[in-house]
Amino acid sequence: MEGPCSYRFNKSVHSSYVLGLPIPKVLVEYVYIAEDGYNIHSKCRKLNQVPTDPSDVPTWSFAANFPVEDRFLKPVAIYNDPFRQGNHKLVLCEVYANDWTPAPRNFRKSCTDAMKTAEVTEAAPWFGLEQEYSIIDPSNRPLGWPSPFMPQPSGPMHHDAVGMHKTFGRDLYEAHLFTCIYAGINISGGNAEAFPGQWEFQVGPTEGVQASDDLWMARYLLHRLSEEFGVAVSFHPKIIPGDVGACGGHVNFSTKQMREDGGIQHIKAAMPLLARTHDQFLRLCDPHGGADNEARIKGFFCTASKHFKWGIEDRDATVRIPRQVAEDGKGFLEDRRPAANFDPYIVTDALVRTIVLRQDF
Ligand code: ADP
Ligand code: MN
Ligand code: MN
Ligand code: MN
Ligand code: MN
Repeated sequence: MEGPCSYRFNKSVHSSYVLGLPIPKVLVEYVYIAEDGYNIHSKCRKLNQVPTDPSDVPTWSFAANFPVEDRFLKPVAIYNDPFRQGNHKLVLCEVYANDWTPAPRNFRKSCTDAMKTAEVTEAAPWFGLEQEYSIIDPSNRPLGWPSPFMPQPSGPMHHDAVGMHKTFGRDLYEAHLFTCIYAGINISGGNAEAFPGQWEFQVGPTEGVQASDDLWMARYLLHRLSEEFGVAVSFHPKIIPGDVGACGGHVNFSTKQMREDGGIQHIKAAMPLLARTHDQFLRLCDPHGGADNEARIKGFFCTASKHFKWGIEDRDATVRIPRQVAEDGKGFLEDRRPAANFDPYIVTDALVRTIVLRQDF
């Protein structure tokens, strides 16, 4: 269990040799979504010049599957590297098969197409992505989970909490906020969540595919940081059975019309469209066709209802209109269905096709 993970080494070594040695080269970490559509992988390459745009970074490849096939890595978004710092970069990549067709889990391609098509409508779709996560301790339990008793059902004891016996792992959560902002991710905030070791951060509001790029890179940073802290991070929507331990990935969504005065009527007009595609949508809410999410969406304790229902202020509804939005008469809606391990490319794509393009997906 207690293997020689990164966190067990003396960190002055990192300071001396990684941050302390100026090198006249650039290290670029190619970050990509693994073949399971859930894990994140990365590999490093040296460049001679500082890239400022993903197109400055050469395409690359990796070996996938058994029997082994080559996959191509196409850089699509570039970030500052908070670990190597200086001129070093992280690049998020799309994965292509060896004939340059999108690999099976490359859902960014379709998402980009939907966002491009939506441009002509001038809908300017914005997304605010809430990412809940669980910190897992070295014995594979949620960090801070009490041993002699089951915690109370998720809720007020831990949510937004401060203090010993209430929050666990804040150093990781804080380091993550800082590294995200350094990297250039449009993060909007975060909070302690509803059970021990559970936290949340939010990305956005950000237009189009960039919201999802940022979320994937923010997930990478969390996994990468977890090596430093000697804990693991899980995005599974239900790591504990029963009325506790649900992790969601709410997607807050708006169009230009929804954000303008009187936009509430456009928000309400989206509800029957969302109801129409509800069954297909539920299958897109996790990497296993909705199976992971099944145990989460109970329609109580602030989990989305699996039977389509929308409501103002209602956190047990499938889709919520926040109270502030109802008061302002404009703003956004919150889709509470996606599980924490959702692929934001799939979900934002489906929302744009449903609400803006009025297409099936
Ligand atoms: P909750 O009360 O559901 O926990 P959060 O504060 O965690 O809400 O998340 C709300 C998210 O909605 C934030 O990421 C915020 O940036 C995003 N948001 C705010 N305005 C808009 C908008 N007009 N369109 C889309 N997302 C928005
Ligand atoms: Mn090799
Ligand atoms: Mn939230
Ligand atoms: Mn939350
Ligand atoms: Mn929410």
